[in-house]
Amino acid sequence: MLVYFSPVFKNHVPPYRHPEAPDRLDHLLQGAQAAGAVVKEPKLREDTRRLIELAHEKSYIELVKRLCQSGHASIDGDTYISQGTCDAATLAVSAIADVLDRRETALVAARPPGHHAGFAGRALTAPTQGFCIFNTAAIGALYIGDGAAVLDVDVHHGNGTQEILYDKDLLYVSTHQHPYTLYPGTGFPEEVGVGKGEGYNVNIPLPPQTGDDLYVKVVDEVIVPVLRQYGPRVVIISLGWDAHREDPLADMNLTLKSYLYVFDAVLKLQTPVVFLLEGGYNRDVIKRGTYALVRLVEHGEFAPGESQTETDLHARRKFEEVMREVKTHVGRYWRL
Ligand SMILES: [Zn+2]
Repeated sequence: MLVYFSPVFKNHVPPYRHPEAPDRLDHLLQGAQAAGAVVKEPKLREDTRRLIELAHEKSYIELVKRLCQSGHASIDGDTYISQGTCDAATLAVSAIADVLDRRETALVAARPPGHHAGFAGRALTAPTQGFCIFNTAAIGALYIGDGAAVLDVDVHHGNGTQEILYDKDLLYVSTHQHPYTLYPGTGFPEEVGVGKGEGYNVNIPLPPQTGDDLYVKVVDEVIVPVLRQYGPRVVIISLGWDAHREDPLADMNLTLKSYLYVFDAVLKLQTPVVFLLEGGYNRDVIKRGTYALVRLVEHGEFAPGESQTETDLHARRKFEEVMREVKTHVGRYWRL
């Protein structure tokens, strides 16, 4: 499995202690290399600016450029910009376009993350951009066009990706911790898309403390049926490791077993899958997760190295309520 990485992705540097820091990529690489992945360095493409403009307003792109030139700056209380941010964020866009051109299954190990970035920065009703600058996943989907699907397994709702793709007939499916309990506060099942995008936006909010035993049901009963019926030409996975039970920023009870389960289901569609790093702040989880991902893709080895978690009664009741809602809204467009 190819892993697209460049030291340039580490040049997005926080001015203060911040969970989204360059060393995340060191841990990712350790896991990838131990599993036998081949690391490839992406090159900056000439059409990158045009690609970014597929998803973002020119005024926003200019603002980001100005903030990069000014050195350390904050775009909001969560989201910083450093001198190297623009180089990193634009190279991330180049990397995903290259991978998509090659129609190959690969991991794009880029920073800064992107799924909270909307047309003009802050997306929908979110208070901040949640560490994100350019929405690489949405740009990738728009670059491919027909048949592109984004599956977002980050614990936070990809409000930026939803905003950008909302009126497009490109599939966006997200599992995330319930918006009542976590940033960015969107991602309800009734948000189904508008215009020709109606039905193509699928939100599956999960109660805090949902365990592996129930995540399997989400994969089998919603994600796989929708993806099969959509028939993607390529699947971009917005890969946040922060739905893991050991992540410091969220409250789920999932292990790597849930991650491998959903990855395996998507890989079985026999279509190229681009894994794109988003969040995930426990360094050990990033390392072990990447190792397990590469082993799964390369050898079909399903080895999470963790035992399955069970959901407690309280969360299970909430989960059942949410699944009924999801099936009502999503079931209007897809056979579940
Ligand atoms: Zn996240």
